[in-house]
Parts: sequence; C-alpha cells; structure tokens
Amino acid sequence: MVAAVPDGLFIGGEWRPAASGAEFPVEDPSLARTLRTVADAGAEDAEAAAEAAGAAQEAWAATAPRERGEILRRAYQLLLDRQEDLALLMTLEMGKPLAEARGEVAYAAEFFRWFSEEAVRIEGGYQTSPDGRDRFIVMRRPVGPVLLVTPWNFPLAMGTRKIGPAIAAGCTMIVKPAEQTPLTMLALAAIMTEAGVPAGVLNVLTTNRPGEVVEPLLRGGVIRKLSFTGSTAIGRLLLEQSAQQVLRVSLELGGNAPFIVCADADLDKAVEGAMAAKMRNIGEACTAANRLYVHESVAAEFAERLAARMGALTVGRGTEPGVDVGPLIDEAGRGKVDELVSDAVGRGAKVLTGGEHAPGEGYFYTPTVLTDVPADAAMLSQEIFGPVAPLLAFSDDEEAVAAANDTEYGLVSYLFTENLDRALRLSERLDTGMVGLNKGVVSNPAAPFGGVKHSGLGREGGRMGIDEFLETRYLAVPLG
Ligand code: NAP
Repeated sequence: MVAAVPDGLFIGGEWRPAASGAEFPVEDPSLARTLRTVADAGAEDAEAAAEAAGAAQEAWAATAPRERGEILRRAYQLLLDRQEDLALLMTLEMGKPLAEARGEVAYAAEFFRWFSEEAVRIEGGYQTSPDGRDRFIVMRRPVGPVLLVTPWNFPLAMGTRKIGPAIAAGCTMIVKPAEQTPLTMLALAAIMTEAGVPAGVLNVLTTNRPGEVVEPLLRGGVIRKLSFTGSTAIGRLLLEQSAQQVLRVSLELGGNAPFIVCADADLDKAVEGAMAAKMRNIGEACTAANRLYVHESVAAEFAERLAARMGALTVGRGTEPGVDVGPLIDEAGRGKVDELVSDAVGRGAKVLTGGEHAPGEGYFYTPTVLTDVPADAAMLSQEIFGPVAPLLAFSDDEEAVAAANDTEYGLVSYLFTENLDRALRLSERLDTGMVGLNKGVVSNPAAPFGGVKHSGLGREGGRMGIDEFLETRYLAVPLG
C-alpha cells in the first residue's frame, strides 16, 4: 500500500519531484522507523503550484455547480471503496488503530457527500432599492485560489473538510499537508484526479520546510484565502503573514476542552462520553477533553469507573487486532506528555492508572487518570495531546463554569447533566464554539465546527462551511 502512493509533488495535474530534487523521510511512529521518503518542496515549487492554481481558477469557477458536485460525489464513493487501503496508510504514518482510521475515512468521505449537496445550493438575491429606482442582484463568487494547510492528527478528514467546500465553491487550491502524514494526502490527490478534478484545480506540496513554502504563497498575490488547521502559535503567525495581501482567513486552532459532570449526570453516559472525548485519536485531538471537572458528590465514583475503563485499554501497534490505543506521533509529542504528567504529580496529583511509557519500539504511553490535580498544574492550561485525563472536583455550577472558561481557548466544552434547565443555562455560559451535551463527540460534517477566542476564526462544515470559500458580489441595476 505504502509503495503504491505517488511520492512526488502534484502540480498542474502532474506528479513531479521537487525542483531541488530533495526528499524527506516519513516515519511509522509505532516502530520509530522510516516508512519511505517523499518530495520536499521549496519556494520554487510553491511558485509553480501558485501559477497552476492561478491559471486554472477562471475556467474552474465557470464550471456548472452540478459538475463540481458530481466530482465530489464520485470522490465520496471512491473514498469508501478504498476505505481499507486509506485506513491502513493512515495507521502506518500516524499510528491510530485501524478501527479508528476506518472511522476517519468514513467521516472524511462525508464531507465530500455534504459539499456535493451544497455545491448546487449556492444562493443569491434580488432586491428593490428603498427608493424603488434600482434593482440589486446579489451573487456569490468563489474567493479564488486558496491555500489549505492541514495537521497530522486527522490526515484525511482535515483535508476533505477544506477540499470539499473549496471544490463546491469553485476555488482552485494548493494543499500543504503536515510533514508527519503526507502519504494520505498524496493518495487523496490521486483519488481526486480519478474522480474528475481537472489539472491545476488541486495541487499538493509536501515539505518539511513549511515556512519556505507557505510564507511566499501567502505574500505572493495569487492566493486569496488561507484555511489553516493546526496549533494556535502557527495560526497566529500565518494570520500575520496573511495581512499583507489582506487574505480571507479561516483558522481551526488548538483547544483546552473542559468536561463537566454535574451531580445529576447519568454516570454511565458521562463515563462513556469521557472515554470518547478523551481517548478518540489517542487523545491527539483538538476536541480532546483536557480538564475533567466532576461534582464532588460523584467525583470518587466517576474517577474509579473511568480509571477501570482506561486501565483496561490495550496499547500497541495500530495494525494489530484488538489494539485500542496506538503510539503518540513522535518523541517530542510523548516528551511533552511526560513533562506535563511529572509536573502535575510533582504538585500533588495522584495517579489512579497509567502515568508511564508503554512497552514497544514506538512512542507508546499508557492511558492515564490523575485525580487531585492542582489548579496550577501546567496540563490544565496547555493541550495535553495524549491519553491523560486530569480530574478535578467542584462544588457548585458557578465554580464549574468559572473554571471551564478560565482559558484563552474556546473550541468545545462537554456538559453532562440530566436536568434540561441546567443544561441550557450552563451551555449558554460556556465560552466555546461548540458544546457536547451528554455527548463526547461533536464532529459532524453537517454541523458548523469551530472555536472562539484563541481557538480560531470561521466555521467548517454545516451550511456555513461553504461561505468561507465564497465572496459576495452585487450588481446595481437602474431601471429606466
Ligand atoms: P502545527 O504544528 O501548527 O502544524 C499544522 C500545519 O502547519 C502543518 O502542516 C505544519 O507543517 C504547518 N506549519 C508548521 N509551521 C509552519 C510555519 N512556520 N509556516 C507555515 N506552516 C507551518 O500543528 P500540528 O502539530 O500539526 O497539529 C496539532 C494542532 O492542531 C493542535 O494544536 C490541535 O489542537 C490543532 N488542531 C485543531 C483542529 C481544529 O479543528 N480546531 C483540528 C485538528 C488539530 P509541518 O508539519 O511541516 O510542521
């Protein structure tokens, strides 16, 4: 499977090596070994991709919406047909267990299905001016060539969540996948060509020198929009770089999700929700529950039940049957988890389960539950990005909301209560773009995904997803 993936850059409908001839290695994090190498794009390749995307824009914008929708629909089907191959590829380069990788392929494909339906529903308007003399015709136009920069944690879905609306809207694009997981995006580019995406519409630049590729593209004048998913630090940097050309910008950034369990919560649902919100993707998700606040009356029982579930998970290579938890992405990712756990324990947190490396050549870490985590522990203010659940007890709703909102992030929060009145009152006060109410997973292609505060700008998916790729233009028409 790995050998069958193209290893070049995809520019103007052709596969080619980097202009410099450079390549970089892609690692299997479960073995800490190189899987293979791919082309390492530089500034010259970025220029070629911008030229290709710019040249294809006008004709692509003029295609019938139905045609663009049908391409997405075919791509949706091809992803499902190739689900096993794509899942294996993702497991090999990213580490997530095969069952989760299969789930990601299905989730990623749904973005194509959703946006195939949105392509034909781009609406405009017709309006009479207040004085009755003019008519205003309002239309939606593609913003133009877009740059899509994606992270390694969901190598396929974070791509289709951007590529889907860009195709539906009629934008050409350059995709820059994360350097840890380029193979999935290269495989996707081949599938998109098979689905009928014309030359120049989708270009892919793999690189391990992201700054040398992204910055000239943002400053170059061809790209009209940046859509970025990744860390808040890099998002902020790219927002600054986008200012010079006054680009449209969508940012899906980091999170620090609070997970609140009220005294009246259904504990079965809360434990199930915590397992999903914490352990989905090995804890390496922007939506991962990062701080679990549990009412003091149920804190001990919740901790015991969660620790039993977490302690029973099987850690190992994602390709092996029965494995629930794969390796972390790299040594640095595991090192950060080590530091955060020893900081919390050093400040008095208790380890109920886990708290150490799991055996194996790769970057394995045991699922961990910590209680009595003090408010000044570093893990409460940073993304843990690993299988570690810090628990804190609270005594009333005010305290829980204040603690939940005490962060610069605002992506998602989770709330567990069986009282509708409390659910609505607290949901309105949680300062996040999304709230999971008695539910540990909020992602859905038909819903507007996104954050507030330092978690980002704009929404992906839902009815709003395509708006991010459209401009409004109006025609003023005087009637004689
Ligand atoms: P990252 O380090 O910010 O990288 C994201 C992307 O930006 C990668 O393609 C990366 O390329 C590129 N990049 C890095 N430095 C750059 C630079 N100087 N100029 C231009 N591009 C640059 O994030 P990550 O570690 O891949 O992903 C984890 C982060 O993503 C977490 O913070 C997570 O919360 C966030 N995330 C957010 C969402 C959301 O929807 N809100 C979803 C998933 C993940 P390289 O790979 O070459 O470094």
